[in-house]
Amino acid sequence: MNGLIRAIIDTNALRHNLQSIRKRAAGSRVMAVVKANAYGHGLVNVAHALPDADALAVARIDEAITLRSAGVRHPIVVLEGVFSAEQLQEAAVQNLEIVVHDPVQIELLERFRGPEHFPVWIKIDTGMNRLGFRPSDFPKVLERVRAVKASKIRLMTHLARAEERDCPMTREQIARFSDIASKLPYETSICNSAGIFVVENDHGNWLRPGLALYGASPIPRESAASFGLKPVMTIETTVIATRRVRAGETVGYGGAWKAARDSTVAILAGGYGDGLPRSLDNGTPVIVDGKRAPMVGRVSMDMTAVDVTDIPNVHVGMRGSFWGQGISVEEVAVHAGTIPYELLCGVNQRVPLYVI
Ligand SMILES: *Cc1c(COP(=O)(O)O)cnc(C)c1O
Repeated sequence: MNGLIRAIIDTNALRHNLQSIRKRAAGSRVMAVVKANAYGHGLVNVAHALPDADALAVARIDEAITLRSAGVRHPIVVLEGVFSAEQLQEAAVQNLEIVVHDPVQIELLERFRGPEHFPVWIKIDTGMNRLGFRPSDFPKVLERVRAVKASKIRLMTHLARAEERDCPMTREQIARFSDIASKLPYETSICNSAGIFVVENDHGNWLRPGLALYGASPIPRESAASFGLKPVMTIETTVIATRRVRAGETVGYGGAWKAARDSTVAILAGGYGDGLPRSLDNGTPVIVDGKRAPMVGRVSMDMTAVDVTDIPNVHVGMRGSFWGQGISVEEVAVHAGTIPYELLCGVNQRVPLYVI
């Protein structure tokens, strides 16, 4: 058996999703968000699989340097910006686009003496209250950034509640942003994945999809397929044991599941040591031999138990999957009381990525 558990990364699905995203906002350009190891899909793999992305976006400069070292030539936006003169110098040398969201970062630009001209994205806080300048401070900020010879200016903001359809806060955020941006000649960026599919028209020049690119639905209770998205990651697992369990017996740590009938239980490779949350509950769907079966008992570090009583002839060596093709990561996330982002990013180093 070749690897008991692995994450299959379908690069055709990735490119398909990029096309579906483009269709939502014709004329916009796309910066593919590849922070956090491309949401667990492999930073460099994903960058190489998306030659048509107009840019890539990462959270931190280290991620950008990893991409450049791997020969990635796309424009790269560093969403959290830089925090020292050395990092700014590195950003200039590596030809990175930086976000400024704090006065400290403007000071760094003011002290910069290099010959490079690179795009500086000014982040405007329209209500998220995380990063960015308040609209009331913007005129002063703009004046300072304009005075910096190194910069070509662009404007961005981030939506706090885009995954809720018809949310007044989203409309307010866009109105605050447009108030500023519509009077200026600069390129803009507003929408993450949810924004791309919820907002009509006001998408700005640059889309910033993360989750949707990886084929998970950005809107709760709406399917990825309804947005033309296909899952990119499938976590494939293997049956490493089977056993008969009599009615009344329990399975696993804490006896957290008790068989109501005589049952067949399959043990699958994959546990919290691989990134499956321990909070996954009894009944979480898993695929074994192409069919759905419910998880039973607690997730262990290396393995997970599944009730396969209703699937004939389950045996050691059979394949299954925890999410991806046939079972969406969104659906599994609900069973752990979390969001698909956390499951995708949480896939552990020990799970090899198999890029197809
Ligand atoms: C992570 C991030 C995104 C991507 O968000 P998704 O919801 O995954 O599409 C977009 N913009 C910013 C500023 C981000 O930090």
